[in-house]
Amino acid sequence: MELDIRADDALIVVDLQVDFLPGGRLAVADGDSIVAPIEALADRYANVLLTQDWHTPHHISFASSHPGRQPFEVINLDYGPQVLWPDHCVMGTRGAEIASPALLAKAQLVLRKGYNDSVDSYSGFREADRKTLTGLAGYLRERGLKRLFITGLATDFCVNWTAQDAAANGFETIVIEDLTCAIDTNGSLASARGDMDKAGVHRISQAELLVG
Ligand SMILES: [Zn+2]
Repeated sequence: MELDIRADDALIVVDLQVDFLPGGRLAVADGDSIVAPIEALADRYANVLLTQDWHTPHHISFASSHPGRQPFEVINLDYGPQVLWPDHCVMGTRGAEIASPALLAKAQLVLRKGYNDSVDSYSGFREADRKTLTGLAGYLRERGLKRLFITGLATDFCVNWTAQDAAANGFETIVIEDLTCAIDTNGSLASARGDMDKAGVHRISQAELLVG
């Protein structure tokens, strides 16, 4: 698959935040390796949007909010299974900051998610209860942005859920896989790839983007 980049495309950079990079509280291995390439790619898009994980201090997705539980355990909540994470991306803290000043400067929108205490939100479109919408689909439609190229962290969680919801909302959705990095806990990367394929999400490498 070879793709040109059009004026009504959007590049969505998911959760490129201090806590998800090496040294952060929920570091994704090699997460720092994709920062410079995403910055370079962003210069080719007219529309760059960021998502930002933005949690309350005792968020329900934190293992520390559930006595006796450890990070990476899975528990059942009202809305379904929830992986428990180390505390991360607490609103207003250094760890929650976007790790790239260049992308922050270029971004037209920084969409915060996960700010409701009792619901997680991997997806930039809707929270983990699958009901509470963030407004992103409406924003994209009102701006006439039709095709979404998704990069960032982590492949198997926030990138995956954002991409599936993008496709479900009728956007042509392309994940640039070598500009994402995975957490890969309990087979999550393989199942994320399968789920994205089923949802009609295209997975490509950066090399498939034509230099216009
Ligand atoms: Zn989170």
